[in-house]
Amino acid sequence: MLPGGFRDSAVIEQHGAGMDSHGHVVERLRSAFRSGITLPEEFRRTQLTQLLSMLRDNEERIIKALHQDLAKPKFESALSEVDIVINELHHAISNITSWMQPEHVAKNLATKLDDCFVRREPLGVVLIIGPWNYPLQLLIVPLVGAIAAGNCAVIKPSEISAATDCLVAELIPKYLSQDCYTVVRGGSEQTKALLQNRFDHIFYTGSQVVARSVVQAASVHLTPVTLELGGKCPCFIYGRINIQAAAHRLAWAKFFNAGQSCVAPDYVLCTEATQKALVPALSTVLEEFYGKEPQKSPDLARIVSDRHFARLKKLLERTKGKVVIGGQSDQDSKYIAPTVVVDVGEDDALMSEEIFGPILPILTVEELEKSMDLVNRNEKPLAIYVFSDESSIVKTVMKNTSSGGFCSNDGIVHMTLPGLPFGGVGASGWGSYHGRWSFETFSHRRACMLRGWALERLNGLRYPPYTEDKLKWLRWTTSAQNSCSLM
Ligand code: NAD
Repeated sequence: MLPGGFRDSAVIEQHGAGMDSHGHVVERLRSAFRSGITLPEEFRRTQLTQLLSMLRDNEERIIKALHQDLAKPKFESALSEVDIVINELHHAISNITSWMQPEHVAKNLATKLDDCFVRREPLGVVLIIGPWNYPLQLLIVPLVGAIAAGNCAVIKPSEISAATDCLVAELIPKYLSQDCYTVVRGGSEQTKALLQNRFDHIFYTGSQVVARSVVQAASVHLTPVTLELGGKCPCFIYGRINIQAAAHRLAWAKFFNAGQSCVAPDYVLCTEATQKALVPALSTVLEEFYGKEPQKSPDLARIVSDRHFARLKKLLERTKGKVVIGGQSDQDSKYIAPTVVVDVGEDDALMSEEIFGPILPILTVEELEKSMDLVNRNEKPLAIYVFSDESSIVKTVMKNTSSGGFCSNDGIVHMTLPGLPFGGVGASGWGSYHGRWSFETFSHRRACMLRGWALERLNGLRYPPYTEDKLKWLRWTTSAQNSCSLM
């Protein structure tokens, strides 16, 4: 028997699994879901506690796997992969009782005696597809929501972060109910085959290109989809500014995980004068962070794959901007130095796609109005950052732009609070999660009205034969002043 008292049948699908074996796995989970096993709060709580144990018991192995995949520094792994999931788990465990309560709604005269409430119900068998950049966090945080909401789940880690993929596939069946949760492994072909099955919800984190094929596959079964995508997150730096603090926070948010964060500041918008002060400040900060030879620093992650390394190198070759910091790279270790590029135009190669690496272009635009126009002409970003001592500038940008999240005078940290929904808008994503928002994402809000037989005379007002009098009274009993309408 396994921790939690679950049977230990083999459930991990290996690379090369076809649609039939996936169908078999999904069917097995579906029958567990239909049995009602995931419904009691106690079951959900036990699974969440098991996940907590999984993280605590295996922290060293997780950190090692992440180091193998991305040379992720232990500090960054502990903070952004282990602790963030542990915090989500604590939050879910403390709040699950209240989240599961029916939510009573306002009633009118006609429904005064009824029990009217929203009931959160699990969706069924959900599919969670994760990316490689935070391969543990972005797989397990959605899983916390799926479990808390009472679903069964298939989880599909990214094959690119191979060591973490392998570890997750080993650990999940050891800690969680194998009847209800399973890991399916594989790359694009296996995921496409998996997607041919009917799920009750698909939660996808990754690129916009792949999201299109996920949505297409989901449309066959009319399966609802949450998309956690990327894009280019701008960082506005305008007005009076504490340049030292700004350089520290900007460099940290940009070069954390070697820039491979969906919410990393993708590019900076500022005036010429600010750029003049910012570049030397960034240079000093980067030396402070990573030393004179960043390649030797243990605190800088590496690019995940040869393909992404080549993509970033090409962007650097194609830019018409001027590299003022960094620019060096090493193919063997997939190292790219923290790099800052100035004199970048809106039509530059660095502005043609999400950078997703340690390269920071700076675009100079003298007027804030024009820099907001530049951002608003493009797809809505996952996050917008504004660095300024002037709160009026922060508020102006907040009011005149749109993005998944917004943070002033810092980067990334807005996504660490479970109370704030995390997600995109438009092309940067559909839906959101974290904390209660995850529970909502993986729940159906069922509208329930429990009526008895009382007040039949009042109810009789709606029956034919219709009269003007009946209409008058009915309108009064169901009017908005009495809270809501009948229909
Ligand atoms: P990706 O889309 O290449 O891969 C993500 C997942 O999709 C992997 O599990 C992969 O196996 C699977 N996949 C690949 N091809 C597929 C196909 N044809 N059909 C179905 N599934 C397929 O994304 P990635 O390169 O791992 O991640 C980088 C992107 O993800 C960036 O754009 C980044 O901004 C975005 N991202 C977003 C968030 C967020 O929370 N919004 C977080 C991390 C990354």
